[in-house]
Amino acid sequence: MKCPHCGSENVEKVREWDMPRMGYHVVHYACRNCGGRFNHYAGRGREFVLRVKAARGRAGRPPGETRPSHDELVRELLELGEWLGFVAGREEPTPDGLYRLDVVWRDAEGHAPLKAFEVELSGEVDKALARLAHAYDMWRCEQLWLIVSDEARAERALRLVEPRLRGSFARIKSRLGVLGWEDLHGLYAALRQHARLLARLAGRL
Ligand SMILES: [Zn+2]
Repeated sequence: MKCPHCGSENVEKVREWDMPRMGYHVVHYACRNCGGRFNHYAGRGREFVLRVKAARGRAGRPPGETRPSHDELVRELLELGEWLGFVAGREEPTPDGLYRLDVVWRDAEGHAPLKAFEVELSGEVDKALARLAHAYDMWRCEQLWLIVSDEARAERALRLVEPRLRGSFARIKSRLGVLGWEDLHGLYAALRQHARLLARLAGRL
């Protein structure tokens, strides 16, 4: 296992757990070289690694910067979906293979996604909107969510994308929600401590 922060193989398994709905087994690692943390997900014939915590020092976050990385926000969306009883998937290709969506939530395995999420931290809002619009065209998703970085609060974020929704993206306007990363991260942090109870309440058994 290689640390995604620094490339070192000097990593330590910290804990592991299952995400039954997604069908993933998750192992949380700490890197002894750089102090970075990451999760390894395996299941459904796929595996991938998501960074949990930036490494210390040069490779880490600049001082004063508290925004989670793209990987961290993706991980939070996967966990939120799981807690709420959805089958959450990462980097799902659209049926025509044209785009991959950061995260999708389905009501059941094999069904078309009900919700699609794009985490756009690099300011390329147009590309993210194009992926979401395509997800709507392909899957008729009920909800499309754009998580943006440069405007921390949802209202300001919405103002940012509004001009684009009058033009070529008008067809997705009524389904699109825009969140600042702080809104998503705040929700995740607040629910995390209640995750077990939430997952039980969301379950139908
Ligand atoms: Zn490392």
